[in-house]
Amino acid sequence: MRPTGKLHLGNYVGALENWVRMQNDYECFFCIVDWHALTTDYADTSQVKQNSVDVIYDWLAAGLDPEKCVMFIQSHVPAHAELHLLLSMITPLGWLERVPTYKEQRENIKDKDLGTYGFLGYPVLQAADILIYKADTVPVGEDQVAHIELAREITRRFNGFYTGKRGPVFPEPQSLLTPARKLPGTDGRKMSKSYGNTIMLTDPEPVVRQKLKTMVTDPARIRRSDPGNPDLCPVGDLHKIFSSPETITKVNEGCRSAGIGCIECKGWAADGLVKVLNPMQERRQKYADHPRLAWDILEAGSARARDVAGATMNEVRDAMGISLEYEPPKDSAK
Ligand code: SF4
Repeated sequence: MRPTGKLHLGNYVGALENWVRMQNDYECFFCIVDWHALTTDYADTSQVKQNSVDVIYDWLAAGLDPEKCVMFIQSHVPAHAELHLLLSMITPLGWLERVPTYKEQRENIKDKDLGTYGFLGYPVLQAADILIYKADTVPVGEDQVAHIELAREITRRFNGFYTGKRGPVFPEPQSLLTPARKLPGTDGRKMSKSYGNTIMLTDPEPVVRQKLKTMVTDPARIRRSDPGNPDLCPVGDLHKIFSSPETITKVNEGCRSAGIGCIECKGWAADGLVKVLNPMQERRQKYADHPRLAWDILEAGSARARDVAGATMNEVRDAMGISLEYEPPKDSAK
């Protein structure tokens, strides 16, 4: 996850909630990719560290558990940079230039010069992040599938050039698509920091309730007596994710028959949200009060990641024949 600061409900529903489940079934490595933040924010790095800290607080708040998964910061594991460099040697430029997000972001982000070597190469760094743990599965949203496909192409090319002692060094990583759930922001568009329509995981209850009060609803309900349709209402979408089946039934019946008002309905949606957010905020507070605890978790996770990454890099250097370890001369009689 890129460290973009405190996380919002869209980040939770789109990724984090799924990761919390995955840590029970997989051996998971979750990485705060601070070097990736530099691919776009290289001119102003002042927020990168604090943003990384905020992400780890939110991860722990959401329920990622250091007993069940490894959490670490990319730059604490310098081997990512070494593998990135080696993979960059074998990655054709054309592969990077045709990555859809590359073209899209070059066209859409006008306030920064993204004509840099680092920005073009960030999918190679991403491939290194994945391959260095020999990950077989990467949980991603739809928009990241092309990057995983590129990582697979790089894997095949690497394994084609170089063979490890026990066969291919890297398995081909597979995308595990996070089930896409529609989470609208308060203005009905996709929840996103750049739209200013977010509900943050750290928003206190009164703020959540206030934000919901101003949330857009089904435009057909102009007057209280007009029936509406929860399937066409962003608040209805929130209910589907956060409310109990009984509440969803009440909303469905009440909205379609104009038996309930939107204010009442939004209050129920807020109840559902607060129920999820309150325990998270309690957990977060523990770490905010004792930041050393969160750093200890990150440092222990980074040490574990360095071990695994270091072992992979030994295999990589061996397979490429560039290991600098001493080898006795082949003909020892001389
Ligand atoms: S009653 Fe609820 S679901 Fe129906 S339009 Fe109002 S806020 Fe939306």
